[in-house]
Amino acid sequence: MEKDSEKLMQNLVALSKRRGLIFPSSEIYGGFAAVYDYGSYGVELANNIKAAWWKAMVQKNENIVGLDSSIFMHPKIWEASGHVSGFSDPLAECKECHFRARVDHLLEDVGVFADEKMAEDEINKLLVDNKDKVKCPKCGKSNFSEARNFNLLVQSNLGNFTGDWNEEPTYLRGETCQGIYVNFKNVLDSTRVKVPFGIAQIGKAFRNEITARQFIFRKREFEQMEMQMFVHPDTAMEVYEDWRAKRWQYYLDLGLKEENLKWHQHENLVFYAKAAWDIEYKFPFGFKELEGIHARGDYDLGQHSKFSGKDLSYLDQKTNERYLPNVVETSVGVDRTFLAVLTEAYTEEKLEDGNERVVLKFPKKLAPIKVAIFPLLKNKPELVKKAREIFENLSDSWMCEFDDNGNIGKRYRRQDEIGTPYCLTVDFDSLEDESVTVRDRDTMKQERIEIKNLEGFLVENLK
Ligand code: ATP
Repeated sequence: MEKDSEKLMQNLVALSKRRGLIFPSSEIYGGFAAVYDYGSYGVELANNIKAAWWKAMVQKNENIVGLDSSIFMHPKIWEASGHVSGFSDPLAECKECHFRARVDHLLEDVGVFADEKMAEDEINKLLVDNKDKVKCPKCGKSNFSEARNFNLLVQSNLGNFTGDWNEEPTYLRGETCQGIYVNFKNVLDSTRVKVPFGIAQIGKAFRNEITARQFIFRKREFEQMEMQMFVHPDTAMEVYEDWRAKRWQYYLDLGLKEENLKWHQHENLVFYAKAAWDIEYKFPFGFKELEGIHARGDYDLGQHSKFSGKDLSYLDQKTNERYLPNVVETSVGVDRTFLAVLTEAYTEEKLEDGNERVVLKFPKKLAPIKVAIFPLLKNKPELVKKAREIFENLSDSWMCEFDDNGNIGKRYRRQDEIGTPYCLTVDFDSLEDESVTVRDRDTMKQERIEIKNLEGFLVENLK
């Protein structure tokens, strides 16, 4: 990482902890690698990210419906999906300091790109060919063991009550979309949808990620937002291109700058896939995958038909054609979106008075707190009373914060650092003129607005 990028990353991590966005997990016990907790403002931002995705996918598309399937599923599902045999990362150990690293990442660091689906011997050959260049990120030496594939599925000790005496282990789901495939028939039979239609789901997924680095970019417990469109095989590529365009636009609407987004096409596709592109975002550590958009053919429903013994084909009532729908998938992590939005919003500004401020310029719809309400002085009951009345009123519609701590300048800085778009101050004039001072996060301009007009102002400006 370049120096500036490293500094930016450190600033994001420090600000996130200081201001209650993201905490390292189990900190008082020394931490728990690659697991993080969202703090009071973090959970608001994450909820707003999920709400924006749900709106764009479910609310605004008449042919997409939601689902909330469980984390635990029948173990056969993970066999059918190929995760039990093939969901693995190549891992090698530094013979000097015993640090374990993903070989595809070690190679990537020296400009050699290994495909995700490469066999063990192929990736080992690349490692051997580049053994002098590849350095241990911990001790800097070039002395790695052979790569071994390491399965990413997280196994649990939940009893397997399927009645099968050859008890297979149960897993915490490695991705949310399997819950979508196995409910395909249920959704079809219980709602008004017909192919082409989509099922969208937000939920936790778990992976034994080998490398615990890059903050919330790569977590062992994370949250996915996935949508699977079920389509006629002849229209799959058309629908696919349509979703590529829609998802690109979605990120622009989310406030990410176009220059910070990039397409990455997968070159070596798995045998069943028809196309796979990722949208990458320029994180502080470089362009990396934010979302995957895949044309998956009929592999998923085909596998589940085969393993469950249930026919998952679709009968088109109009044409009488029976076929196995193809799947077009869009898949993104809540956490990676969070990190992208945070990176984009983070701004350091030099002020006219020579001071500096840090401000998170979140798009208003994503800001954790929309309005902060301050009585000018906390020991003046009449100011506090009026400020509380405003809080009661506005908190019916928006996340508000009441703050009477410290001087106003300090309160502004705090709200800037959590990205609150508007701060309202109740002062002595307010008691006479029924107005408050409204301060804008980005311009820092202040204007007087009548209390009775606040709601209209916010409706207009918080869109
Ligand atoms: P990577 O190549 O970075 O490991 P992937 O290709 O395995 O990612 P997918 O299986 O396609 O990822 O998952 C879809 C989305 O879920 C990703 O685009 C990403 O946003 C998110 N995601 C995947 N793994 C993680 C993780 N360990 N932590 C946070 N988000 C993740």
